This record gives sequence, structure tokens and C-alpha cells, in this order.
Amino acid sequence: AEFAALDARVDAEAADEEAQLAQPVLAVVGRPNVGKSTLVNRILGRREAVVQDVPGVTRDRVAYDAQWSGRRFTLVDTGGWEPGATGLQGAVAAQAELAMSTSDAVLLVVDASVGATTTDEAVAKVLRRSKRPVLLAANKVDDERLLADVASLWSLGLGEPFPVSALHGRNSGDLLDAIVKALPEAPRDAERTAGPRRVALVGKPNVGKSSLLNKLTGEERAVVDSVAGTTVDPVDSLVELDGQTWRFVDTAGLRKRVNFASGAEFYASLRTKSALDAAEVAIVLLDASEPLSEQDLRVLTMVVESGRACVLALNKWDLVDEDRRHQLDRELDRGLVRVPWAERVNVSALTGRAVRKLAPTLRTALESWDQRVPTGQLNGWLSDLTAATPPPVRGGKQPKVLFATQAGIRPPTLVLFTTGFLEAGYRRFIERKFRERFGFAGSPVRINVRVRE
Ligand code: GDP
Ligand code: GDP
Repeated sequence: AEFAALDARVDAEAADEEAQLAQPVLAVVGRPNVGKSTLVNRILGRREAVVQDVPGVTRDRVAYDAQWSGRRFTLVDTGGWEPGATGLQGAVAAQAELAMSTSDAVLLVVDASVGATTTDEAVAKVLRRSKRPVLLAANKVDDERLLADVASLWSLGLGEPFPVSALHGRNSGDLLDAIVKALPEAPRDAERTAGPRRVALVGKPNVGKSSLLNKLTGEERAVVDSVAGTTVDPVDSLVELDGQTWRFVDTAGLRKRVNFASGAEFYASLRTKSALDAAEVAIVLLDASEPLSEQDLRVLTMVVESGRACVLALNKWDLVDEDRRHQLDRELDRGLVRVPWAERVNVSALTGRAVRKLAPTLRTALESWDQRVPTGQLNGWLSDLTAATPPPVRGGKQPKVLFATQAGIRPPTLVLFTTGFLEAGYRRFIERKFRERFGFAGSPVRINVRVRE
């Protein structure tokens, strides 16, 4: 129950961050065969989307990463959606509804060589209600002579029609200029700070944090950098491991042994919090010779909340015998359900056993923490997954996952755009499958759901 509450809190915070992190979404709508996919390809500048001449054939990918004038956005081809409405007009109108509620701007594509059809008019009527910007592309204007027909499309009430030829690329630059102008500014990823990667050593008192740090830095040089005049904040330690320099944060706080009769635990958790804030990855020490305790779980909870990458170090392995090992396996199965993705290393700070394995494991965790799955790849995988195992029906309705983007890294954060609430169990299923497909060992992955309003 404690973890469920934590889940909810982490989700709420992540949703706030996600709103700031997500790149803007442009949805492309229109009747079949007006040239949506061709235009999507033109905008992407490559032939990633598959153009199909057969109307109604489901495309297996729907969302892509696009870029113009240095602005990144997610491009959604609604041709891949099956809104379930009957009749062409209803289906296209339903697509437009979904597009309006899931994107930051909508691009309606019409075929200028045909002119505005009743379906185009019905869709335009839906889109005129949109609170977000709507752009109108008049496609298949392959030559000047068709420009006269374009003017008649003002009648759709969506403002100026942009004449383009998706096939030949004509005027697509002007359209893209207008698109990026209409979209909200995309926030940039947190900048990769220069210098050594930052590591927090956390764990309950007496688990062996300072022993491990001493082992890692070499006993004689317990504090490698507390020297005045270095550029390093003296509360941190620079440690050379496996040919790479790491910055162990707040090691001064680690050495300060607070032993008040009361409040020691409070100070310990303050230190844990501040170390996690300063770090990118945590080494969580657990005492393998003792049963997993409440205190251990509290530390793990703080790590999960922090969104940092994480490595579990089972310390005092020199004290673990065969019997204890079997017991430990069972304890860990139960105690570590929240962090099944964290890699474990069995170490001894006393003897130095396996401490050399920590650096490669930290590297893996940080690579995962920094990893981004391209939108096209993500959606190719997701549409297969949700087709094979659709979300469970809720209140008689089957929620649909329309598309997804990885809104951010550090930690990797996915946003699923859906037509309804997704149960926690289904989200965990998606996360499990996501990890099977894309890895992300050592890093948390947050999954947020944006239900259309
Ligand atoms: P969608 O169903 O709206 O995604 O349309 P497609 O992109 O699949 O295109 C339908 C057909 O129109 C294809 O045969 C395209 O080659 C053709 N097409 C797309 N854009 C243009 C264009 O600008 N000019 C001409 N002449 N044909 C186009
Ligand atoms: P901290 O409070 O987490 O910094 O823990 P310390 O590093 O001060 O270690 C607490 C006690 O555990 C000390 O007596 C250490 O010698 C002992 N200790 C730490 N690591 C190990 C280990 O790997 N094996 C054994 N047997 N004892 C250890």
C-alpha cells in the first residue's frame, strides 16, 4: 500500500515534468488518399512512413520525430488510427476529434485538385471548434495552374490554405515555417553537464558506505580532493574507477558521524536526500548478512522517488554463507519488487570482493538513464503490442493507445496518448515489455498516460 501511494505521487510529479519536457505534437488529418502519408514523408525528409495506395489499410506506425529550423516536434499520422466510427465522414471526423484532443496543433490536408468535399467540410466544422491552432494544407498543387483552385478552400473557414505538392516538395518549406510558428516552443533536454558522472553512496547507517568509499579511493587517500584550490566542491570526492573519473557526491556528509541518541535516522535520511539530489546514479548499499529492514526500504523508496539510476550493492558478502544466501534470495524477491530493473553486485568493502564490478554496472545504468527511443521505433513496437494485447475494458469501454513519445530522459519518461484510463496493471505490463524490447537496465522508466479531454 505504501508503494501504491508512492507510485501515485511519483506519477503526479512526473506528469508535471512531462508537461514541460514533452516536445509538441502535430497531428495530420484528412480523408484517405489526399496525400497525408506522402506529406508526412516529405516533412520527415525520408521515406520512413509507408505510403499505401489502398485506403483503409492500417499503417503500423503512427508517430515520428520531426525537425524544422532547429525545432523538434512529434508528427502524428492519424491514418494509422481506427476510430471505429462508421462511414467515411464519421471516421475522418472522429479522427479529427482525437487529433484535436491529443495534439498541440492540427494539420488538415485536402486534395486541391478535387476541391473541398462534404467530408472535408464536416472535418473542418469539427476543427473550427479547436482551441489549438489548425493549419490547412492544399495538397497536389503540382503546378501553378492549380493555384486558382486553392483560393476556393478559404471556404472551409480555417484561414489561409497553404498550397503544397507533397509529391514534388513544392512549397513544403513555407508550410513547415507556419507549422513551427504555430507550435509551442519545445523545451530542451536537461543539458548534459560536463565533468565526471555524479554518484551517491546511500544506505542505512553501518551498512558500509564509508568503508566502501575508502576501498574505492584507496585506504591511504580517504579524501582525495578536499584540497583547497581544486575546482571540486570539497564535499565531494573524485574517484578513479575502471579508467574513468567519477564524482562521489556529499562524501563529507558520509564521514560526519552523527550519533545523536535521537534524530540520527532523521539526519541520515536528510543526507540521503541531498546526496540523491546532487547525483545522477545511486549505489544503494544493503547489508547482505542481515535481514532486509524497514530502513533499507525507506532508502529504496527515496531512490525511486528521486528518479535516479541505481545499482544495488549487497555488501558484507564475506559474511554470507550458503544458508544465508538462500534466505537472502527470498528477502530480495519480496523487498525489491519496486526495482526489478536495478542490477545487483555482491561486494565486500572489507575484502574488496567484486568492487571492481561497480564501475561497469554504473556505466550501464547511466547509459540507460540517458537513452532515448526514437518515436517511430517506439510506435512500431507499441502498435504491435497493443494490437496483440489490448488494454482491459473499463466501464464497458475499451481504451485505445493512439501513440506514444518518449518525452524525456534522466529518467526516461514515456507519454502514452490514449482514449481512456489505463490501469496500473496494464501500465506495468507495458513497462515490462518495453524493457524486454529496449533494455534500460539500471534505470527507472516512468510511464505517463495522457487521456484525451
Ligand atoms: P493518404 O491516404 O492521405 O495518406 O494519402 P497518400 O499519401 O497515401 O497518397 C495518396 C496518393 O496520392 C498516392 O498515390 C500519392 O502518390 C498521391 N499524392 C500524394 N501527394 C501528391 C501530390 O502532391 N501530387 C500528386 N499528383 N499526387 C500526390
Ligand atoms: P556506514 O555507516 O554505512 O558508513 O558504515 P561503515 O563503513 O562505517 O561500516 C560499518 C561497520 O561495518 C564497520 O565496522 C565496518 O568495518 C563494517 N563493514 C563494512 N563493510 C563490511 C564488509 O564488507 N564486511 C564486513 N564483514 N564488515 C564490513
